[in-house]
Amino acid sequence: MTDPLLEIEDLNVYYGKSHALKGVSLSIDEGEIYGVIGPNGAGKTTMLNAIAGFVDYDGSIRYDGTDLATVSPQEIVREGLIYCTEDRDLFPYFSVHENLLMGAQFRNDRDAVQADLDMVYDLFPRLDERREQEAETMSGGEQQMLAVGRALMSDPDMLMLDEPTLGLAPVIIQDISDALERLSDQGLTILLAEQNSTFALRHAERLSLIETGEIELAGTSEEFHGNEYVREAYVGVH
Ligand code: ATP
Repeated sequence: MTDPLLEIEDLNVYYGKSHALKGVSLSIDEGEIYGVIGPNGAGKTTMLNAIAGFVDYDGSIRYDGTDLATVSPQEIVREGLIYCTEDRDLFPYFSVHENLLMGAQFRNDRDAVQADLDMVYDLFPRLDERREQEAETMSGGEQQMLAVGRALMSDPDMLMLDEPTLGLAPVIIQDISDALERLSDQGLTILLAEQNSTFALRHAERLSLIETGEIELAGTSEEFHGNEYVREAYVGVH
């Protein structure tokens, strides 16, 4: 058995007196899609922020053998762990093409960067058609594609996606779905935080359900599909 790529043990986050994450533990294997589902305010974003080094925490987060508490957020990115936030954080007045190049700003393997650009445009033809369009004038779905595309330009080993389907039309969600499957087939490890449980259950091999900062249930997607509480409370809502 190989070690997990990401290993979280007894993660606790406090915002002042509020205990936002309460002893969360989980591990993610290389090459898998791992889903974290749960309602609004459950702590999903807080978990991703802790992994990315954006919030202080107690407990341990190890990525590919590195204790992430000992490295800066920039170093975490250089280690290949890339975070696509819910806000997308695009450069609004930059074109699609410029935003994509910003994702590759720390790389000096020029041929590989060009190959990744071709890969992203192939993955999202809508971006290819809009190379010169300013990011802020793109639709929500196109901006989500651009955020994922820019993350891919950093040459990630693992991608963390926070609510990639939020507010998107079904036809765009399908495009994101297809892209995730292709990336997963290429061996990318993906941590998918979603309120849209149906979407997460469709893609993730294993999942955790977080409610009020605690993991209430963890298991395979088959186990989640078969769980009456999950079905009643979460599936079919979207
Ligand atoms: P959503 O899907 O709405 O983003 P979530 O599961 O990602 O929900 P979090 O955003 O992690 O949940 O929030 C978990 C809890 O922590 C919530 O009660 C939230 O109000 C609180 N919280 C998040 N960020 C902060 C902050 N910077 N300061 C204080 N409280 C915060």
